[in-house]
Amino acid sequence: MPIRVEGLEKNYGRIWALRGVSLEVEEGYTHALVGPNGSGKTTLIKTILGLVRPTSGTVSVDGYPAGRREAKRLLSYVPEVPEVPGWLTVERLLDVVGRLEGLGPAERASEARRALELLGVSHLRARPVGGLSKGQRKRVLIAASLVGMEGKKYFLLDEPLTGLDPEAVETVRGLLAGLSREGKTLLVSSHILKELETIANRLIIIYRGILLYKGTLEDLAATVKAKPSIAVRTPDPALAARVLESHGYKPDIVTSAGLRVYLDDASEADKILDLLRSAGVKITAYQVTEGTLEDAYRMLVKRYLERGGGSA
Ligand code: ADP
Ligand code: MG
Repeated sequence: MPIRVEGLEKNYGRIWALRGVSLEVEEGYTHALVGPNGSGKTTLIKTILGLVRPTSGTVSVDGYPAGRREAKRLLSYVPEVPEVPGWLTVERLLDVVGRLEGLGPAERASEARRALELLGVSHLRARPVGGLSKGQRKRVLIAASLVGMEGKKYFLLDEPLTGLDPEAVETVRGLLAGLSREGKTLLVSSHILKELETIANRLIIIYRGILLYKGTLEDLAATVKAKPSIAVRTPDPALAARVLESHGYKPDIVTSAGLRVYLDDASEADKILDLLRSAGVKITAYQVTEGTLEDAYRMLVKRYLERGGGSA
């Protein structure tokens, strides 16, 4: 029996954090929960935990209503930001978690030691959580979620990779892959699909509280045919954009460092470079990429906005 979310709506005054979300967190799979900041990822996770009460709709964990003791017992949770007092030391935090999980003193100590070692943060044991760097704190929170994990079935991790250095990202990814191999069910959020691409086998995309996609990663790539694109770095992106627009190209992303144009065919890239160069645009670097899953995700959002989805 999975985690089942049906017709979930949540509003905070005039802000709709979730609008009619229905999905299942399927047993034994690793789910990537992806969407830009403010799209409702944290609200969805907290609703499953029973920390946020739905405005309407239902959420159940193995048939138990979210928030019930029987439901909570099955869930392990890594919050996006610590929800503990900053003066608490790392050691005490893990001990408190162990107590809440009903572990005896010896078990608490050994599980805490193991979890801290796994995340490479044993040396921070005596430090108050509030004084840690963002990345250190994240690793400690993940370690804390592993105390008492044997009895857990679902692992809900809210942006566990955000703010980590590349080495720690690999450690945590390895850890998640390990949990998945053990048959645990994972729901991992991120605002960057690429971060989770290699470990997830299910994908949930939410945008402004709306469920845009649920399914496999392969199906997304196939359904939303991702296009190749060229990214150009230039000191004058506005000029570059004007030049391309005057030739019928519509730059999709323009930043202060450059722009990106989606192409029907990668061979168009040369033409774009020629157009820019002959108009006197200085090109400091460029890169042509085949359609990635990240592109498919962006196109999905773009299509949604073009259909008028953003005006609601
Ligand atoms: P995400 O985790 O994807 O960044 P959140 O679930 O945190 O998104 O937030 C979704 C929307 O709900 C945002 O617009 C956010 O500002 C709003 N929101 C979340 N929690 C609260 C709250 N406690 N009070 C008011 N608005 C909130
Ligand atoms: Mg969030």
